[in-house]
Amino acid sequence: MKNFLSKTAREISPYTAGEQPSDKKYVKLNTNENPYPPSPKALEAYRGFDFSSLKLYPPLQMRGLKDAIAAAEGVTSDCIFCGNGSDEILALCFPAFFDEGGKGAAFADVTYSFYPVFASFFKVPARIVPLREDFTLDLAALTAAPAQGVIVANPNAPTGIGIPLAEIEKFVAENDRIVILDEAYMAFYGQSAVQLIKKYKNLVVVKTFSKSYSLAGMRCGYAVADPSLIAGLERCRDCFNSYPVDSVCQAVCAAAIADSKYYGKCTARIVSERERVGRELAARGFTMLPSSANFVFAKHEALSGGEVYARLRDRGVLVRHFKGERISDFCRITIGSFEENNALLAAADDLLR
Ligand SMILES: *Cc1c(COP(=O)(O)O)cnc(C)c1O
Repeated sequence: MKNFLSKTAREISPYTAGEQPSDKKYVKLNTNENPYPPSPKALEAYRGFDFSSLKLYPPLQMRGLKDAIAAAEGVTSDCIFCGNGSDEILALCFPAFFDEGGKGAAFADVTYSFYPVFASFFKVPARIVPLREDFTLDLAALTAAPAQGVIVANPNAPTGIGIPLAEIEKFVAENDRIVILDEAYMAFYGQSAVQLIKKYKNLVVVKTFSKSYSLAGMRCGYAVADPSLIAGLERCRDCFNSYPVDSVCQAVCAAAIADSKYYGKCTARIVSERERVGRELAARGFTMLPSSANFVFAKHEALSGGEVYARLRDRGVLVRHFKGERISDFCRITIGSFEENNALLAAADDLLR
């Protein structure tokens, strides 16, 4: 039979998202979602939304949402770009900042597994820089890598390791090329590089409403950068979809980001639970990389990562296992609510018995 698919559609290996099973109810600690509900102010915005306005396309300038993000981040609105999840923004960064078949994009071997997919889809060579033995990122090696630009997740996924702001600033200053910082987990670390965009014209900081704002189902993310870089993202967006952020999403996310008091409390609880879960897992024979995110990357002294994953799943607890070469001993475990974390620890006790 004739194959009507393009070469790309036939051959590309896409990103695989964490499973969202429906066979039974799991304690779901596999995709780094937030255990707490979105802010009550976001719910108010949702309930108060003028339904009849849905007959119109969404506000093209996204004024309300951009102003709310700008106020929360301490920058001006012309430095903000919004997208349908930060994944979409990271995707748009490739055509916006990297030439097809050019010098390429440099990133770590163990990092967000969407980056190599974007590189392959947009035909940008991937320049892979291995993490050190202890899974920390060698910024000097990344700076030395020949490439048109670099991408760093800080804190990194799936390791959870954070890089202090002072080191990031030195790195941005030393790289006379585009630097994309993926700060999906930054709220749990508190060392955001957003303010540096005023000083460095080569820096794009990408953030999301999915993790620390408990709005993964809403699909919204944003980039903060000098307006000259934002313009490039907008041109590329407008070759795909002029309205990536729907009207309801704009209203809900604007209300959410203004409620720093509520989210500050949720984040503090997750960070303190992360420390407790870390201690408890260590007492059960797990070792973990030092996490600055809302998950821990853990391996057991006597069991493979695949075994830990499967045995937890049998006991109704879902975590994420990656088959990658250096990381297959580990499982990435999202920090849940107090009760969910206790369910994880009870399941771990049971499987080790
Ligand atoms: C979760 C995550 C994102 C973003 O996700 P969206 O839901 O698309 O905003 C981006 N980068 C990393 C490293 C992530 O873990």
